[in-house]
Amino acid sequence: MTNVRVRFAPSPTGFLHIGGVRTAIFNYLYARNLGGKFLIRIEDTDKERSKVEYEEDILDALKWLGLEWDEEPLRQSTRMTRHRELVEELIESGHAFRCFVSPEKAAAIKAAEMERGGINAFRSPDRELTRQESQARADAGEPFAIRFRVPTMDVSFADHVRGTVTTPAHTIDDFIILRKDSTPTYMMAVVVDDSEMEITTVIRGADHITNTPKQVLLYDALNLPVPEFAHVPLILGPDKKRLSKRHGAAAVTEYRSKGYLADSIFSFMSTLGWSAGEDKDVYTREELVEQFDLTGINKSSAVFNEQKLEWMNSQFMSMMPDNFLQQMLRPEFARRIEDGIYPHGTGPMLAVAVRLLKTRARYPMDILDKGNYFFNDPTEIVERKAAKKRLKHEDTAVRLDEMAKRFEALESFTEETAEEALRIYIEELGENAGALIHPTRIAVSGMGSGPSLFELLVGLGNETTVRRMRTLAAHLRQHGTPPVPQDPEEELPKIEPLV
Ligand code: GLU
Repeated sequence: MTNVRVRFAPSPTGFLHIGGVRTAIFNYLYARNLGGKFLIRIEDTDKERSKVEYEEDILDALKWLGLEWDEEPLRQSTRMTRHRELVEELIESGHAFRCFVSPEKAAAIKAAEMERGGINAFRSPDRELTRQESQARADAGEPFAIRFRVPTMDVSFADHVRGTVTTPAHTIDDFIILRKDSTPTYMMAVVVDDSEMEITTVIRGADHITNTPKQVLLYDALNLPVPEFAHVPLILGPDKKRLSKRHGAAAVTEYRSKGYLADSIFSFMSTLGWSAGEDKDVYTREELVEQFDLTGINKSSAVFNEQKLEWMNSQFMSMMPDNFLQQMLRPEFARRIEDGIYPHGTGPMLAVAVRLLKTRARYPMDILDKGNYFFNDPTEIVERKAAKKRLKHEDTAVRLDEMAKRFEALESFTEETAEEALRIYIEELGENAGALIHPTRIAVSGMGSGPSLFELLVGLGNETTVRRMRTLAAHLRQHGTPPVPQDPEEELPKIEPLV
């Protein structure tokens, strides 16, 4: 099946929302899996609510997520003439008619009919108008819409997720296909455009499932082949209500600026409502393209959990190529250098920070925020507890100085030589390795934990390592206590006022 053509059809009435992304991804994966085409249609027929800025945001976000489309996006507003032509065709064939009943009146007619125990839908009295009567009223300037003449039968379609869906036509209103201002409705436009874009499979949110029987009726009336359908279950927030802004779920661009990687959003959203039937959380794009199929779409709703997305991001951080992360961080890094925050920041040191911290970061920016010590000598040991616990031995200063001397004397400073030097000294002291490892880490990074110590030392370089160890030793010698920030809980000594 290589003639598969699918589309993502956003309405540019808002920014691309995280829920919409999932629909786009499923369409994309389906097309790529089968070697078909993934198309975009901008459904901008609602002139009041559609904005070019939203359209740009949607396309930018899709591009950022790597959802490349295969043909020029189709703007639905450019297709109105064609929609109207087919409305005419439906009028000609008797499937549609002018309806002069106002929407309010229509609602009242429907309510009365239901009360009477009749059918559960609006049947327009204007169905019965003769062509001449209808023409005469239109010529006299009476406003009208074009409605579809819903037949008396069951409407069925096959859905890849739900199986056969059957709707009794007596529950379907004679629906409007052309408004009284002569603009086509979504129902009409979507059928004409899907048909002429030769869409083979419509993959969209389950919120559209009640529209589908009407669309099937239109395809039949126009003698057009009905595409396949897959209605994807809704995404819920952790409280099991439909995902919305209340859950913090927002525009894709917001996730992007929070530091989420396109790959992790892509992977996470792919598994929201779809599974390959295996116990696996993290999929690469290649794996998804390879494994995606419509039978893996779940029938029940999926729950969006931002903590899991955050976890997913940290997984992808580890997998990202270093140079990609460096490039992402470079503008902010340059800004910090310029602002004097990282007076000693250099490109090579950024590379070291990325290499050593990416496996410990949730977001790219964590590398700069947590890796301050790559670009500045630490002036304080922020983790007071670590400082107190790890630096309490009375010989700490002496040991740091001695270790620094031995590091300095090494001919080549590699993870192996540094580790060996430390082991030798530890043996001489008759201590556990921790007795030197922890003070050394605290001296060079000001932190109680971090990347593997020897990688860190070599990453910082011999000179920096030695300088920082000596600085801490000197401080300990001079003050007797480590340089920790003031504890807000600690009582400050009272100063007697001068009289
Ligand atoms: N424009 C519609 C929406 O934003 C999608 C229509 C469809 O996929 O059929 O929900």
